[in-house]
Amino acid sequence: MLGASACPQSHGREAQKARQQAAIKSVAPSPSPSPAVDCVKAKCVALTFDDGPGEHTPQLLDDLKNAGADATFFMLGQNIQGNEALLKRMVQEGHEVANHSWSHPDLTGLSSSAVRWEVERTNKAIQAASGVRPTMFRPPYGSTDERVGRAVAMPQIMWSVDSLDWQHHSVSTNVRIGTREPRSGGIVLYHDIHKETVDAIPQVLSNLKRRGFTFVTVSQLFRGQKLRPGHQYLQAERPKPKPKPSRPLTPSGTPSGPSSGAPSGPQSGVPSHAPSGVPSGVPSGTPSGTPSLPPSWIPGPTPPVPG
Ligand SMILES: [Zn+2]
Repeated sequence: MLGASACPQSHGREAQKARQQAAIKSVAPSPSPSPAVDCVKAKCVALTFDDGPGEHTPQLLDDLKNAGADATFFMLGQNIQGNEALLKRMVQEGHEVANHSWSHPDLTGLSSSAVRWEVERTNKAIQAASGVRPTMFRPPYGSTDERVGRAVAMPQIMWSVDSLDWQHHSVSTNVRIGTREPRSGGIVLYHDIHKETVDAIPQVLSNLKRRGFTFVTVSQLFRGQKLRPGHQYLQAERPKPKPKPSRPLTPSGTPSGPSSGAPSGPQSGVPSHAPSGVPSGVPSGTPSGTPSLPPSWIPGPTPPVPG
């Protein structure tokens, strides 16, 4: 889970990366949809990858690039040394570099000064490697509280869909969860340190595209909203345009709200479109496996999930 030691990269891989970067520079514009995406109108989902970067991250970047998909990488500071080129590539290809602490501790067991050290040291390492200072934080294991939130002093990004990839190590399960569970405004938790996860992503991207999703970074997902430092966010809220009491949602049915123009998944409760973004960390609807509570009091998902 921690993957503390940076995997030595072969020269072949370095050369491959150099060729890819050269190719990126020669091909414009980037397939990344990021500049024009409006997640108030579009059906957006944020795929997030924790605990890296690792040996499978280059393959993941290739697959994301092929699909024109943006993603967010919540990285451990201790994994950055030796992977600086990978971080540069993430930024260059439209992804978001984000903070997942330095060494993946349970922050609720640390002093506030130790929490600040975990966060700030990682921010500096990511900025030094990529040129971009992270603005999003995800606490390891999703474990946090009000005191930790104050010490972190960054928005704490949780998730609405947990792939449980670290537990089952199954490509087919990763595909199934990643295909069926996301809803508009959702945040999906994966770990790019697992081969079975990275191997599942091309199919997940393809299936979610068929469901009408656009793949955005966390910052893009919350664009226009003011995220508060220390507060927790499970997903981007998509308020209902107008109540439709004549056709109430059913637990296993499909949303009865305005048509999204795309097929809906098995989930319900969140219209695919919304008239305007509203700053809030409170989830709309009830994402699977996560409680619907005020952001300051949303507990971390059931341990020992390695968020
Ligand atoms: Zn983690």
